Amino acid sequence: MARIECRQMVKRYGRVTAVHALDLVIEDNEFVVLLGPSGCGKTTTLNVIAGLEDLSAGDLLFDDEVVNFVSPDKRNVAMVFQSYALYPQKTVSENIAFGLRLRGVDRAEIRRRVLEVAEQLEISQLLERRPAELSGGQRQRVALGRAIVRQPSVFLMDEPLSNLDAALRVSMRALIKKLHLMMRTTFVYVTHDQAEAMTLADRIVVMDQGRVQQTGTPDEIYNRPQNLFVASFLGSPQMNLVAGHVVREAGQLRFAQGDFRLPLGPVTAAEGQPITLGVRPEDCLVDAAGLQASVSLVSPLGSETHATVNLAGVELVARLAKDVIVHPGATLGLKLDPARLHWFDTQSGQALQRTY
Ligand code: ATP
Repeated sequence: MARIECRQMVKRYGRVTAVHALDLVIEDNEFVVLLGPSGCGKTTTLNVIAGLEDLSAGDLLFDDEVVNFVSPDKRNVAMVFQSYALYPQKTVSENIAFGLRLRGVDRAEIRRRVLEVAEQLEISQLLERRPAELSGGQRQRVALGRAIVRQPSVFLMDEPLSNLDAALRVSMRALIKKLHLMMRTTFVYVTHDQAEAMTLADRIVVMDQGRVQQTGTPDEIYNRPQNLFVASFLGSPQMNLVAGHVVREAGQLRFAQGDFRLPLGPVTAAEGQPITLGVRPEDCLVDAAGLQASVSLVSPLGSETHATVNLAGVELVARLAKDVIVHPGATLGLKLDPARLHWFDTQSGQALQRTY
């Protein structure tokens, strides 16, 4: 168990700053996911926490103790990577036991812990096989087992499911979540996959270009994105973003883009200000009495349908229930629920301040 604190943590590689003055507290037993596109600095952050990379500036604390210069083996962290990095000549059992052997743990205790971990990971029947005789998913379970068996204070995972197919990723996600509940240990997990982040995290840290863009629960990140980057990074299909500006009509402030008009939500904005409207596809609600949209493209997915529609010159993707039958060229009534709209200042990219 450990509480991790990054204080103004910087990591530079020559002239490249991979992580800029990161301030982050990860509470004991919390499951935090570092999420962002390739090159945003998430692996670097994880490696600094592991002690595999030195800090260039700032401090890293474990349970209020500065650990900047503490070697990785003294930090009691375990790491699982995308590549399983198992010893090919050793059996599953030997792979899991290896770290304990190095630490001189008693043979009977090693046996007990290996069997316990193998049972938790449902690989008891594979203990005598070698890695070449395992599937990718089984190998990743062994890699997890090798990390768990050490009973680390901090569990660090770097894209551990990226090499697995989609179905296996979903079942491994559930397993990792179960392990966290069982182990009651701090987990820090790196991914670029928003579904993994949303399903696993207590809190998500969204990063871009070495800087934290937003930290919050999955609900906060998805439903209250603080800027355009976070708004567009999470959600599939992506949030519809429409750049326009604020006009005053009949004494009221409205959002305008060409002929498209929408009353402004409860946000602070000035007449003439360039702003961007954000609408999640699932918040385009079918309502015969709503705004009349012409349908240009229909993508049925079985469980739901995505329709590209045109509303007074503005193109939006709407996510429709599977029983809504639409065709290209048809007209569809849509309601955009004002309570579910997002508003951003176009220049700064920041969400507009709400007035409630
Ligand atoms: P990915 O998902 O592709 O692994 P990431 O978000 O984990 O990306 P990092 O690997 O942390 O990103 O890299 C952050 C930045 O630091 C990138 O610009 C990368 O090119 C740079 N960088 C990482 N490691 C080194 C290194 N050893 N030497 C120089 N630059 C590096």
